[in-house]
Amino acid sequence: MTEKVRLQDPISAVLGHRKREKYEARFWAKVDQSGGPDACWPWTGSTFKDGSGRCKLPSGHFIGAHRMAAAFCDNASPGKSYVVQGCKNKLCCNPEHGFYSDRFQAAQDKMMEGTSPVLYIAQKGAHNPKAKLSDLGVLQIATCFAHGETNMEIASQFDIHHSMVSAIRRGKNWTHILERAGVDDAFLSAPRRPKERPAYRPAVEAVF
Ligand SMILES: [Zn+2]
Repeated sequence: MTEKVRLQDPISAVLGHRKREKYEARFWAKVDQSGGPDACWPWTGSTFKDGSGRCKLPSGHFIGAHRMAAAFCDNASPGKSYVVQGCKNKLCCNPEHGFYSDRFQAAQDKMMEGTSPVLYIAQKGAHNPKAKLSDLGVLQIATCFAHGETNMEIASQFDIHHSMVSAIRRGKNWTHILERAGVDDAFLSAPRRPKERPAYRPAVEAVF
């Protein structure tokens, strides 16, 4: 007989671990808190390729150091939420500087600041001479999906053919941008507003 194993969120596993104190002490030892409670607390350990701090969990997972800092501080895993460093310091682990955000909001904020990796990665689409959309446009379209706009409505706003909007919605085109921005399928398939149908009129008037 096999017993079902419930996969636990690796951060929750750390928080509930019997050696949590030891792990937590080792974690904070890598955070430079010398600036005081209001200052940025830079991570002094290893980093991800993008320059943000990373820490290794006992489970072997690598996660953002600022994310682990928030988890220790709140004694809860951020789960699916993003932890955004409000101070814009990629290494900062001061939980006071972090706030929770959802994936899409975090991506949008980065787009507005111009710090999104999407802007660079998206060149793939923008370099295609047939491409008519900008990367920012694609993300705006994804927002329209979330607002329940129809393909036709979106197509007219962006001056493109509705089949292109449909391709984005179905994940056929521009997926590299949406993936990088963290827009997931749930957004793309947001329930569409029901079409307003014209009132029924019989084609032939009844003859008495
Ligand atoms: Zn900071």
